[in-house]
Amino acid sequence: MQQEKETEQQILDAVDKFLIKIKPTVHQLEADDEYPEEIVAQMQEMGLFGAVIDPKYGGLGLSVRTYAKIVERIACVWMSLTGVFNSHLIMAMSVQRFGTQQQKDKWLPLFASGEMRGALALTEANCGTDLQSIQTHAKRVGNDYLINGSKTWITNSLHGSCFALLVKTNPNENPAHKGMSLFIAPKGPGFKMGKALKKLGYKGIDTAEFFLDNYALPTENLIGLEEGHGLQHALGALALGRINVAARGVGVASAALKDSIQYSQLRKTFGKPICQHQSIQIYLADMALRVEAGRLLVDSAAVAFDKGERCDMEAGMAKLFATEAAMKNSTEALRIHGAYGYSTEFNVERYYRDAPLLAIGEGTNELQRIIIAKQLIEKNPL
Ligand SMILES: Cc1cc2nc3c(=O)[nH]c(=O)nc-3n(C[C@H](O)[C@H](O)[C@H](O)COP(=O)(O)OP(=O)(O)OC[C@H]3O[C@@H](n4cnc5c(N)ncnc54)[C@H](O)[C@@H]3O)c2cc1C
Repeated sequence: MQQEKETEQQILDAVDKFLIKIKPTVHQLEADDEYPEEIVAQMQEMGLFGAVIDPKYGGLGLSVRTYAKIVERIACVWMSLTGVFNSHLIMAMSVQRFGTQQQKDKWLPLFASGEMRGALALTEANCGTDLQSIQTHAKRVGNDYLINGSKTWITNSLHGSCFALLVKTNPNENPAHKGMSLFIAPKGPGFKMGKALKKLGYKGIDTAEFFLDNYALPTENLIGLEEGHGLQHALGALALGRINVAARGVGVASAALKDSIQYSQLRKTFGKPICQHQSIQIYLADMALRVEAGRLLVDSAAVAFDKGERCDMEAGMAKLFATEAAMKNSTEALRIHGAYGYSTEFNVERYYRDAPLLAIGEGTNELQRIIIAKQLIEKNPL
């Protein structure tokens, strides 16, 4: 236990040092919307691509609790960076949790080192929330699956080289999820990248579409080697992604709070710093409350995940609350900063542009409410 705490502190200290170094560069990288190659290389060196991968496969083997603390710290400086390893680790988690021993031995060391970097490919042009409506399909031909279709809004797809790819292996199955499978899908012949998508925020990191045209994968790339469990595997690993997004929410909410605490002491109106006006004090207090409450919910979801418990309700609550906190805090920070909040010279406008993604990605917040309510009913039958 003591050893674990010391390791956690060492890693958090290393992350803090890294963040102090990169902080001055973030504003320009964001403005240029440029992929931060050098920073990503440093993250790879720190082992972040293997953060929650078992050490026996070369990962750091961190608890999700520690992982969430790292994500919060990084998001407080530049939220985009947390997306570089989020979907990569969801992909890795789907193999770690649901893959065969052979699949773990083959893929996890490549993912842990960051030699192969990945993404999660679920969304299609016609569906994001309603994943059972996907059209991309895989047909078994001898020892291969031949895959046709397309995916869009896939983060890391330009710079990544491997995907956890959700497809239909039996489009006629009812319910549809029984005909869905998840594959480990490295780029190769038949995999064609489309355009990078232009976004409101989440700059620097790529989000793009791709097309699969008779793209062949060997049967050994089907996670768990059994068809029909793809949605379950994707959603099982996605709980980690929801905790990541929730921790990002706390990071953005807390960045907005920190900047507001500072600015409200510097800016004077009517002869005193604005932090002495009661309406500003109410903003600051509410913002701080959201940060603290969000952090506790993230921690409780991470603890449940670490115990190997089903945690979709806890992850859903953390994701919903913390990302709404990011939305609220970034709006209130903007108000506190007045015109300067609207200026691209200050970071506040970035928080305001980044926060809405958190309410959409990894399952919209409307969907989280449905998940929470369903779990409440399931856990409390009459
Ligand atoms: C920047 C960015 C990065 C992304 N990265 C990835 C990625 O790496 N991989 C990936 O697979 N996807 C990714 N996505 C896609 C994202 O996961 C989807 O956008 C999200 O799941 C919502 O799907 P949709 O956009 O199709 O909205 P829709 O599903 O069309 O939903 C539209 C609206 O209807 C609501 N709604 C839908 N169904 C219900 C319901 N049953 N009850 C109540 N309300 C409902 C939604 O909450 C939303 O408000 C990314 C998206 C963005 C913006």
